[in-house]
Amino acid sequence: MVKENCGVVGIFSNEDVNVIPMVIDSLRALQHRGQEAWGIAIPNKAPLKKIGLVSASSNEFKKITEEYSSHSAIGHVRYSTVGKSQLENAQPLKVKDLCIAHNGTIANVEELSNLVGGCTFTPQNASDTLVAAQRLVSLISENGKLGSALSILKNEMVGSYCFTFLSDDDAVYAARDPKGFRPMVLGHKESQSLHIVASESSALSAIGAKLVRDVSPGELIKISSDGLETEMFSEEKQRAHCSFEFTYFAQPSSKMEGTNIYLARKRIGQFLAKKYPLKDADLVIPVPDSARPAALGYAQELGIQFDEGLLKDRYSKKGPLRSFIEPHQSDRVEINRWIIPIPEVIEGKHVVVIDDSLVRGTSSKAIIKALRRSGAKKISMMITYPPIKYPCYAGIDFPSQEELATFTDSKEYSEQEIIEKVRNDIGADFLAYNDAENLANAVGIPIDSMCFTCSTGNYEPLGITPAFKTRKEMKGD
Ligand code: SF4
Repeated sequence: MVKENCGVVGIFSNEDVNVIPMVIDSLRALQHRGQEAWGIAIPNKAPLKKIGLVSASSNEFKKITEEYSSHSAIGHVRYSTVGKSQLENAQPLKVKDLCIAHNGTIANVEELSNLVGGCTFTPQNASDTLVAAQRLVSLISENGKLGSALSILKNEMVGSYCFTFLSDDDAVYAARDPKGFRPMVLGHKESQSLHIVASESSALSAIGAKLVRDVSPGELIKISSDGLETEMFSEEKQRAHCSFEFTYFAQPSSKMEGTNIYLARKRIGQFLAKKYPLKDADLVIPVPDSARPAALGYAQELGIQFDEGLLKDRYSKKGPLRSFIEPHQSDRVEINRWIIPIPEVIEGKHVVVIDDSLVRGTSSKAIIKALRRSGAKKISMMITYPPIKYPCYAGIDFPSQEELATFTDSKEYSEQEIIEKVRNDIGADFLAYNDAENLANAVGIPIDSMCFTCSTGNYEPLGITPAFKTRKEMKGD
């Protein structure tokens, strides 16, 4: 069984344009959202699925573009949060005449699977997307329309979901969950009379399309030869935009909820500097790559030198990938080997290292070791995201509590004691985390419209009281 965060795209052209090259380019622009597998679907054909990065199949692009030629298509890049990382779990999936690509996690998949024939759901035999798709298809056959089916499914299904759908009559659909956990945008390219829906605006830029707007939480968009139609399948007003997208997950060039991610991260660094002004530091360095704007903001705010003390080896097999979203621990360790310190920059200095998050602590530990080896006098680590203490059931892969760096064997520890434990574990001289209010202010979204569940343990935005599971139970590996 699989649940994904992932990236989704859907493109429809009203001219006879083959959109497949554009779907491929947009998936490449969403590659940071999932690196395990990718796929595309066109009407009246079984979806194409491939393991690995989109670019790994570049020698097949010409053949794929010809074989799957279509003026409407959806696509998907996958990163599993629940279930095994294997080809059959790649997307899009096809159930009857509906193809589906999903970004998010269905938290009550066992319960939902009882509504689709009572099959016993396990991480090994199904995907949450498949269960949701089966239920949706049966609701469509009972209720006639996708919008009516979604308005029923939203009450049965708990979780985060941005879907793109494709029907055999070649219409492309996009739906975003009522609280807007995961991002989704709508774009337009006038020259080819096409509309695009995608997880992030980076996918729009990749094909020269303009950002029209965010898809509203609870909205269903249909793009077909009749043009663009929209309806609300939920009128819920409470939002829970994932705060982690703004610090780590999203591409810096993307715009979400009206906010450019790069500028938001730079402001997060500035706000962090106001909260923890380490004025005796000699140097501020980012952990590459997503913490770079925050480190720049921190350094500029305090007038401290900013430099690159750590580089990723872009020519290594794993160097350009992101350690946290890799599914296997051995892969994560391998990635950290390709972070290269520059001793000439670091030696003899009090270094402030800015990172976007501290999840398992694997990267932080390796980085601090490397900085010590390079002669740093003092290492202060600042994390732009609050302490992650609880599993996410809304699409990000830190599924079991015991994997988190903040995990303790008792509930007696204070917040400060937990931070001290993490500091000691990773080997830093000083460790500080951002807080939710500071982060929300820097992003410019009201704190009560953002999700911070992985930090607070308040699962109200999802409407669940989870029984925490082990990684094996969640992912089947
Ligand atoms: S729990 Fe954390 S990672 Fe998951 S959606 Fe909420 S803020 Fe994002």
